[in-house]
Amino acid sequence: MNPRLSNIIENLLQRQSKITAVNLAVGELIPFHAEQWRKLTQNTALASSALHIRVIRAEQQCMTCFQKYHPENLDTNCPYCKSVGAKIIAGEEFYLESVEEENE
Ligand SMILES: [Zn+2]
Repeated sequence: MNPRLSNIIENLLQRQSKITAVNLAVGELIPFHAEQWRKLTQNTALASSALHIRVIRAEQQCMTCFQKYHPENLDTNCPYCKSVGAKIIAGEEFYLESVEEENE
């Protein structure tokens, strides 16, 4: 289970307002499924909130030739020089981007 997801949900449940939608930013390399969200929010105030996910494209940089590339199928070998050992530049994000609340 993703601890950052549990933290986000805990924080949201402390809000006094009614949250109608939650916008998450999730890096492509983070294994996340909306099912995890549904399991953690069932029987809570968030159960009826919509969940929107913005996927952040993964990017790596080769530490040998310094080319930047998108890892295909989670393959970390550099497509330019075939070396291994790339640095992940993007794709491991997981954060709450915004929420939509009901105005009363
Ligand atoms: Zn390379």
